[in-house]
Amino acid sequence: MITPPVPETRPAASAAAGRSPVLEIRGLDVDYGLGDSAVHALQGIDLTLHRGEVLGLAGESGSGKSTLAYAVTRLLAPPGVITGGEVRYHYRDAAAPVDILDLTPQELRRFRWNETSIVFQGAMNSLNPVHKVATQLTDVLKTHRPGMSRADRLERARELLRLVGIAADRLDSYPHQLSGGMRQRVMIAMALALDPEIVIMDEPTTALDVVMQRQILQQLIRLREELGFSVIFITHDISLLIEFSDRIAIMYGGRIVEQAPAADIYRDAHHPYSHGLLHSFPALHGPRRALTGIPGSPPDLKAMPPGCAFNPRCPKAHEPCARDLPLLTPLPGAEDRSVACWLHHPAPTR
Ligand code: ADP
Ligand code: MG
Repeated sequence: MITPPVPETRPAASAAAGRSPVLEIRGLDVDYGLGDSAVHALQGIDLTLHRGEVLGLAGESGSGKSTLAYAVTRLLAPPGVITGGEVRYHYRDAAAPVDILDLTPQELRRFRWNETSIVFQGAMNSLNPVHKVATQLTDVLKTHRPGMSRADRLERARELLRLVGIAADRLDSYPHQLSGGMRQRVMIAMALALDPEIVIMDEPTTALDVVMQRQILQQLIRLREELGFSVIFITHDISLLIEFSDRIAIMYGGRIVEQAPAADIYRDAHHPYSHGLLHSFPALHGPRRALTGIPGSPPDLKAMPPGCAFNPRCPKAHEPCARDLPLLTPLPGAEDRSVACWLHHPAPTR
C-alpha cells in the first residue's frame, strides 16, 4: 500500500483566506440526559469557522464551551446527546459539505486527527508518563499512517517538535523531564501530526502562567500562518482572545449571545454580558480598564429564567428581557456582527 507523504506545509492562510467556510454549525442542540431530566446544555448554536481563521470562544465556566468542542468532533460521551442541528464540514476541494453528524464510525475515525484535532483542557497532564516523547508522537503516525516507515515517522516527530519550538533531542525525554510549557507544546505537536484542517484548543493553557500562555499562543498563530489550519480557541479569559483571535463568539447558558470580529468586541461589545466579561480580566495591552466583573453567578441550566438567561444579572435589563428570549440576530448594516439582546433589536410587542 502506498500512503501519500505527509505534506511539509500547505499554502499559508492569507488574511482569513477569502473567507470560505470550513465548518458551519447550524441549530446545534445538545442535552445531558434524556426525557424530563434532560439538561439543555447547548441550544440553537449557529457558528461558522472560516478557512485559516482563529475563532475564539469565550464564556464563564458552565456556559457550554467544552460541550460544543466535543459535539462538533463527535467526541461527546453519554449522558451527552446531540438532539438537533447540523455540523457541515467542507473537505478541501470538495463540491459540497458533509454533515459530521451523519458520518459512519469508519468515516469518523478518518475525520478525527486528519481533518480535526483537539487539545483538551489539562492536556499537558495526559501524556503517558512511561513513554518517551518520541514514542508518543510516532504512535499517532503509526496508527493513522500505517504505510509510513519507522525512519519517516521519527523524522516527522523531529519536524513536529521543531514546529512547536522544542529541540529535537527532547524526543528522548520522558514527560516528567519537561516543563509544563514544553509538555503543552508536545500536545500541540501531536494535534498537528496529521496536518489537520481544524485544531480545537479547549482551555489548553490555563494551567500555565500568563507569560507562558502568551508564548504558546504566539507560536500557534505563527504555525497557523505557516500551515494554514483554522483554530477554535476556547478560554474563559477573553483578554487572550482579543489579542489572538480574528473573530470571537461569546457563550452564556448554552447559547451564543454575541459574535463579532475581535477588534469590534474589544472596542464596542454590544451584549452587556460581553461587556462584563471584558471588564473581568486585566487587558494585556492598551489602556487599563477598571475590573468590575459581573455580579451574580452563571445560570443553573435546570432552572433557567424566562426571557434572556442573563437578565437577572444584567445592568441594562428592561421590560422585554424577563419575558422574551432574544435570538442571535445579525446587526443591520454591520458586517459579520450578531448579538442576542433586546438593546439592539426591536422587541416583540404584546
Ligand atoms: P464550559 O466548558 O463552558 O465550562 P461545559 O460544556 O463543560 O461548559 O458544561 C456546560 C454545562 O453542561 C454545565 O453547566 C454542566 O452542568 C453540563 N454538563 C457538562 N458535562 C456534563 C455531564 N457529563 N453530565 C451532565 N451535565 C453535564
Ligand atoms: Mg470547559
